[in-house]
Amino acid sequence: MNSESDLREAICDAGRRMYARNLVAATDGNLSARMGEDRYLCTRSGIPLGDMHAADILIADGSGRKVEGEGKVSSEFFTHLAAYKERPDISVVVHAHPPKAVALTLAGLSMEDYALPELVVALGAVPTADYATPGSHEGAEAIRVLIRDCDALLLDRHGALTVGDTVLDTYHKMEKIEHSAESLLAAYLLGKVQTLDDDQMERLLKARAEYGLRGKFFKRET
Ligand SMILES: [Zn+2]
Repeated sequence: MNSESDLREAICDAGRRMYARNLVAATDGNLSARMGEDRYLCTRSGIPLGDMHAADILIADGSGRKVEGEGKVSSEFFTHLAAYKERPDISVVVHAHPPKAVALTLAGLSMEDYALPELVVALGAVPTADYATPGSHEGAEAIRVLIRDCDALLLDRHGALTVGDTVLDTYHKMEKIEHSAESLLAAYLLGKVQTLDDDQMERLLKARAEYGLRGKFFKRET
């Protein structure tokens, strides 16, 4: 079990990585970690994720109220709380605005066509949650059902959300989303995207089961 100070450092480190990898700009994005049933570390509103110190991170309760620290709890923390509520097994939520993944949703495209084998094995399905006003309670409702079965979601015309066990692991899922979106975007620009066939998918599902990874696959419509 991580100590609170380890978690604070890990959140600052992930924030720096997110900024360096262009997954967020300015004061976009937020991270949180569950420390107990009613106690969460969360990034504050209006802070640049790439330039945070351990003491900048707030403590909030399960209703989204600040318990400790300077500044306001991020308005998007309600979306994190919805994820924690639906997923008792997870300890971390990361939200970013990865530009290429967002571009796919702006163009009405998704990551649900199962084209990249590595993405299938690592994350399973990456569905897109319905559009919601960023920072609103509506955003929390938009992810509620999908997050029960998936560790990574795109948020329509807004960003992406990942959940996991550790800060680094959950950050890596976000990095993987954007890296995959970059390949998909390039393929769309070049022409067409080849999707995996049923036999290829079956072998990937088997590999995934062998690794003991979580996350659902949504069956393709044929
Ligand atoms: Zn956002």
